[in-house]
Amino acid sequence: MSGENSSADDVQADDVQRVWDVVVVGAGPAGASAAYAAAVAGRRVLLLEKAELPRYKTCGGGIIGPSRDALPPGFELPLKDRVHAVTFSNNGRFTRTRRSKQMMFGLINRPEFDQQLVEHAQKAGAELRTGAAVQRVEQHGSAVPDRRTVAVVLQGGETLLARAVVGADGSASRIGAHVGVKVDQVDLGLEAEIPVPETVAEDWRGRVLIDWGPMPGSYGWVFPKGDTLTVGVISARGEGAATKRYLEDFVARLGLAGFEPSISSGHLTRCRADDSPLSRGRVLVCGDAAGLLEPWTREGISFALRSGRLAGEWAVRIAEAHDAVDTRRQALNYAFAVKAGLGVEMSVGKSMLAAFERRPGLFHAALTGFRPAWRAFKEITQGRTSLGELVRSHPLAQRALTAFDPGPAAKAKAAAEAAAKERPAGEDTDASDEDAVTS
Ligand SMILES: Cc1cc2nc3c(=O)[nH]c(=O)nc-3n(C[C@H](O)[C@H](O)[C@H](O)COP(=O)(O)OP(=O)(O)OC[C@H]3O[C@@H](n4cnc5c(N)ncnc54)[C@H](O)[C@@H]3O)c2cc1C
Repeated sequence: MSGENSSADDVQADDVQRVWDVVVVGAGPAGASAAYAAAVAGRRVLLLEKAELPRYKTCGGGIIGPSRDALPPGFELPLKDRVHAVTFSNNGRFTRTRRSKQMMFGLINRPEFDQQLVEHAQKAGAELRTGAAVQRVEQHGSAVPDRRTVAVVLQGGETLLARAVVGADGSASRIGAHVGVKVDQVDLGLEAEIPVPETVAEDWRGRVLIDWGPMPGSYGWVFPKGDTLTVGVISARGEGAATKRYLEDFVARLGLAGFEPSISSGHLTRCRADDSPLSRGRVLVCGDAAGLLEPWTREGISFALRSGRLAGEWAVRIAEAHDAVDTRRQALNYAFAVKAGLGVEMSVGKSMLAAFERRPGLFHAALTGFRPAWRAFKEITQGRTSLGELVRSHPLAQRALTAFDPGPAAKAKAAAEAAAKERPAGEDTDASDEDAVTS
């Protein structure tokens, strides 16, 4: 039941209706991670998921180093491919492939990956209930027996009780709405899962493609998963027709238009505003539900896993909190932990996106022709450094980023010139670890 400090009254109340220590809403990477963290702490955890598992999720399935590092112990990634090469193009032009001897990142299918994460949470002791869509949570009113309890109301009217709730119900989160999550960036991602013949699959094995798109801040990707290619594009919401056209053109120019997609889908991604809350009372939010994802690449799995784990750990403390002051203290601790790590990465990511929106060509030139930029890309995807760390420790990265602030165009020029000056003439191969091929 609830924490060791429960009073006799609480125990009686719990006997009347089971009160979970932690109820987690949504069984994606954030929810599974939160449920795992709370369950390994020995608490009674219920994980609610509206779909039946495994369920499809629109996602490239790119697993970068920080995602790998945030997995529970003993978790074996169900990798469909290991990425050793990236082909970059700028709206279909100036195509260039760069290679790395060391694996950069892995590719997974989300249904399988998510299900495996949920199984880990179950093994740690969490109980799973699928087909359970949460309609709302209540922290006051007749459904709530006392001030230490949250009512979780399912579609159909059934009410469950918890000492703490973690909202991990994705980018259209109901729990996020309850908490008052505010977003300042919304993007539309469109994707097609395209089964291809062996000869085509072979051509893509171990290599992804990233294309800087025609709309500001947009880009496209091809992620190979054995006999299927995940092809997608993402761009700011509000340009649905142009985003759809971008995907169609992208698929056509890659010569993939003749293959029928097995799944075509779209999904919104939302990034939190700096001052957006991460909790309300005994309810915490994490992952997409909290608007936690990398604003430039829209990478969200590592943000979901990391914030999910933190939410699970702090939900355990909130479950034990006996009064509003202690609850508030634990919730603030959670917010502090999120902001100190993921918050910093998000603010650097926002600057990167602003820079990329202005000068995608410069990004392309840097990644394909300026060895330190390619090395930074590799190290970030491998998890050996982060964008935030890079900007903190590399004066050139700092200069390049500040150069894109609105107004000082001279600074932007200086950064471009600095990048061009350091670009090796003719030779773009680092024999120790990488080689480059123009295609
Ligand atoms: C096109 C596209 C491509 C992407 N590619 C990548 C990539 O390659 N790498 C990467 O790291 N990130 C990628 N992302 C981002 C990534 O998919 C998300 O950030 C990630 O899925 C967030 O995980 P989550 O657990 O917070 O939410 P989700 O994975 O969305 O899980 C939320 C869960 O909650 C459930 N749920 C929702 N509402 C309720 C309810 N009311 N009651 C009960 N359950 C509910 C849902 O069914 C779902 O299972 C991509 C996103 C898009 C749109």
